[in-house]
Amino acid sequence: MRIDLITLFPDFFTTPLQSGLLGKALAKNIAAVNLVNPRDFATDKHRRVDDEPYGGGVGMVMKPEPIFAAVESLPRLEPREVIYLTPQGERMTQPLFRHLAANYQQIVMICGHYEGVDERVMHLVTREVSLGDFVLTGGEIPALTLINGVVRLLPGTVGKAESLVAESFEAGLLDYPHYTRPAQFRDWKVPDVLLSGNHREIARWRYQQQLDRTRSRRPDLLESETQIPD
Ligand code: SAM
Repeated sequence: MRIDLITLFPDFFTTPLQSGLLGKALAKNIAAVNLVNPRDFATDKHRRVDDEPYGGGVGMVMKPEPIFAAVESLPRLEPREVIYLTPQGERMTQPLFRHLAANYQQIVMICGHYEGVDERVMHLVTREVSLGDFVLTGGEIPALTLINGVVRLLPGTVGKAESLVAESFEAGLLDYPHYTRPAQFRDWKVPDVLLSGNHREIARWRYQQQLDRTRSRRPDLLESETQIPD
């Protein structure tokens, strides 16, 4: 998969894209991330990427020309999705990550700043995605979240395929609790069943934990899993 990031702050991504499993996946070419600064496509002598809003009001708006020029400079792989990160978009979910990981050769992401981008940029955009119901200063953190969640699902990023299946949201349930050594830490003992060696009982206990946690913390997940439109 090829991922193109249209961002005014490419340096923001340097360490996160080199760290942990994501860094290893990119080093193995499971996905390639290309950073593009729309400022490099600004044509006026001050290389302006923002301007005042028509109609007045506070804040600046990202100009359309540098963003169009940046996106149009990219090689085109199909199928391709062009995503604008915005609090007004559909919420990021595990089903959305699965959909993107399974169906696209190229994902282009546009990170907004200030009051956002000129509305005509939406003519480039095929999907609007939000990290959640809050407002951040820019689209970089949402974009990084999406990259992490999608690349994690590409074959070869996570060692054992089963470790993907058991995670929260994969079966519409939250994950079960995990324990490691020591068997007793301060006053807290690891549940006996996990030390029993009885794999059927362990599986039964874990599934029950998943059900109980989901019922008490996220009952909405038991009702329906989010559907992702094409
Ligand atoms: N005026 C916009 C609004 O109210 O919808 C918010 C603009 S925000 C200050 C600047 C940029 O940050 C947005 O263009 C978007 O790219 C990004 N952003 C902020 N919050 C976000 C969120 N929850 N999800 C995705 N992107 C977000």
